[in-house]
Amino acid sequence: MRAIDCECGHHLEATDLEALVEETRRHVAEQHPQLQAGEDDIRALLEDRSYEPAPVR
Ligand SMILES: [Zn+2]
Repeated sequence: MRAIDCECGHHLEATDLEALVEETRRHVAEQHPQLQAGEDDIRALLEDRSYEPAPVR
């Protein structure tokens, strides 16, 4: 799993980085359209800021 906490406080997570790119693109398009962030921007952000969430058991 990969996860990231958006600056707006929204928690996003997905099974892997590729899926998280998609999740984040959708979130940005819906909540932060003013960011104009492209896929490359989002991928770079996630590679820098995303983390492995603690496993839930
Ligand atoms: Zn957000």
